[in-house]
Amino acid sequence: MTAQLIDGNALSKTLRAEVATRAATLAARGHQPGLAVVLVGDNPASEVYVRNKIKACADNGLASTCERYPATLTQTALLARIEALNQDPKIHGILVQLPLPAHIDSHKVIEAIAAEKDVDGFHVANAGALMTGRPLFRPCTPYGVMKMFEAYGIELAGAHAVVIGRSNIVGKPMALMLLDAGATVTVCHSKTRDLAAHTRTADIVVAATGKRNLLTAEMVKPGAAVIDVGMNRDEAGKLCGDVDFAGVSSVAGYLTPVPGGVGPMTITMLLVNTLEAAERAAAHA
Ligand code: NAD
Repeated sequence: MTAQLIDGNALSKTLRAEVATRAATLAARGHQPGLAVVLVGDNPASEVYVRNKIKACADNGLASTCERYPATLTQTALLARIEALNQDPKIHGILVQLPLPAHIDSHKVIEAIAAEKDVDGFHVANAGALMTGRPLFRPCTPYGVMKMFEAYGIELAGAHAVVIGRSNIVGKPMALMLLDAGATVTVCHSKTRDLAAHTRTADIVVAATGKRNLLTAEMVKPGAAVIDVGMNRDEAGKLCGDVDFAGVSSVAGYLTPVPGGVGPMTITMLLVNTLEAAERAAAHA
C-alpha cells in the first residue's frame, strides 16, 4: 500500500480563503480582526514561527501587532502588557509565543490572558471547557488535525486512535478532541512500556513527541491514518517529523508530510480562532 498524502498546504489554502472572506466582511463593518503576538527573548525557532503567523495574518486580511522584548523582561512588565492588550478593543486574539525565559512563569502569563482572547486555547478556562465539550477556542495544532480528518473523510467514530505525546499543547487536547468525535483513544508517552503494541492496533496514530523516526513501518497497521505533528531536524538540518516517512508511507492508508502537513494547519487554525474571536466581539459591540 502507498499512503495517500494529506496535503496541509492545499487544505490551508482553502480554509484561509474562507477566513479572508469573513475577515473582509467584518472589516467592512469596522471590526477588522486583530491579533497581538508577544515575543520575549531571541529563540530562533520562535522568531520563525512568529514571522509566519504575522505573514499569514497580513495575507488574509487580519491586522496584527508583534511586540518584541529582550529576555531580561520582568514577569511584572509582561503581565502589565498583557493586561493592556486585554483592554484593547482592536485586539481580539493574544498570543504569547512559548517558550518564555526561565524566570517567567508561563502558567501565570497564560492565565493573565483574557479567556475570550486566548486564541491558542491554552488558558485553563478554555482547557477546562474543552474537557466538557464547549470551548471558546481549541488549541490550534490538534484543531488543525481534526480538520484534516474531516477534509479527507477519515472516520473517527468507533476508530481506535493512539496519540503519542501528552503535552498540554498537543497530546492532551488531541486526545480529548478524538474522544469527543467518538474514537476509542489511547494516550502513549515516554513511560509507555510497549509503544508498538499500541500503535499496531490503531486505525489512527497521531505522533507528537519531537523524536525523529519514532514511528516506523512495522509499528503501523496497514491502512491506518498517520498524522505526524513532530518538527525535528535531520543530520543535514532538513525539517522532518516523528515518522519514518519512507517506511510508513508504504504501510499507512493516509500520511501527513513534514513539511507541508500539520505545520501550515496550525497557523490556519490560529487565523480561524482570531477571526471567530472578532466575530464574537463584533456581535456584542
Ligand atoms: P513536549 O516535549 O511538550 O511533549 C513531548 C511528548 O512526547 C511528551 O508527552 C513525552 O512523554 C512524549 N515522548 C517523548 N519521547 C517519547 C518516546 N520515546 N515514546 C513515546 N512518547 C514520547 O512537545 P510538544 O509541545 O507536545 O510537541 C511535540 C512535537 O510536535 C515537537 O516536535 C514540536 O516541535 C512539534 N509541534 C509541532 C507543531 C506544528 O504545528 N507542526 C505544533 C506544536 C508542536
